[in-house]
Amino acid sequence: MADDRLAQRFCLGIESTADDFGVGVAAFNGNILANISDGYVPEAGGIHPREAARHHAEVADKVLLEALVRAQLKPRDLAVVAFAQGPGLGPCLRTGATVARALASYLHIPLVGVNHSVAHIEIGRLKTGAQDPLTLYASGGNTMVTAYASGRYRIFGETLDIALGNCLDVFAREAGIKNRKGIPLGAAVEQLAEKGEKLIPLPYVVKGMDMSLSGLLTAATAALQKGANLQDVCYSLQEHAFSMVSEVTERALAHTEKQEVLLTGGVAANKRLQVMLKIIASEHDAQFMVVPKEFASDNGAMIAWTGVLAYMRGLVTPVEESFVKLKWRVDKVDVPWVIHS
Ligand code: AMP
Ligand code: MG
Repeated sequence: MADDRLAQRFCLGIESTADDFGVGVAAFNGNILANISDGYVPEAGGIHPREAARHHAEVADKVLLEALVRAQLKPRDLAVVAFAQGPGLGPCLRTGATVARALASYLHIPLVGVNHSVAHIEIGRLKTGAQDPLTLYASGGNTMVTAYASGRYRIFGETLDIALGNCLDVFAREAGIKNRKGIPLGAAVEQLAEKGEKLIPLPYVVKGMDMSLSGLLTAATAALQKGANLQDVCYSLQEHAFSMVSEVTERALAHTEKQEVLLTGGVAANKRLQVMLKIIASEHDAQFMVVPKEFASDNGAMIAWTGVLAYMRGLVTPVEESFVKLKWRVDKVDVPWVIHS
């Protein structure tokens, strides 16, 4: 298809795997025309799946409309509707899937179920120009090191328990840091860590190519309760956790010999993590790339763009196969649009 025709075809993508309800619009040539999100902020504690799903249902029409207005499109202009089919929290996923099915059926256009983790990688590739990166995808619910091999994104290492973002978020809550809209808890930890001076020894657990973060979280929380300075604990927590993911990333890089390192997912916004990975990449003569902040956390644009990639390869999801997949791993998904010699 000629580029001007690609620019005139559009996919709307719906993200609702966890706390964010996002709607993005991507043109088939890769232009992102809209990326609107509304996040659920729990009154206390972590994400309550049914409360988050209720939030998503309440804001869905508003976010959809805002995305279409931003993209300057009418619903009839859409060629495809994509949605995050998994992995994620059941009630949240189902809410997004229901909206997507309704829209696609009403408009008589195809539906594409997208893997959320693949979408984080694809928006990173689109926005940085990375061709064939080794990717560290670190977010609130996932932490993995992946790279393309033989038709899929293979997992070279991952967390054995909690995700990196979750580790930071739970610590922040234990430390009494309040959840404020617009400032992710991980970013609040980052700000405090910048003022930390003393490195407190904490558990460092890398097993083979995998890592475990829950012991680190417990020990950091205990150090705080025993009276350690909050800024020092935030600094020490970050140094330990980021060193663990960096070690795994470096070994995967040495093994795969990829020439690009891509950092994506919500935690990609962290400057200290960016610095660590940049050093590793340069030591292996690889280029370091990081997804822009706007597309780091869960967002609808990444679903829309991955929907375009899938649809252009003829992949669609019939409604009867559009059930959500709570534990859909990235290495279960064929990505025929990624072609390497
Ligand atoms: P996601 O799951 O991709 O939507 O990303 C959300 C996660 O990213 C949450 O765990 C946030 O605390 C985390 N996060 C966002 N900004 C930062 C930051 N600057 N430093 C560390 N973590 C962050
Ligand atoms: Mg999120």
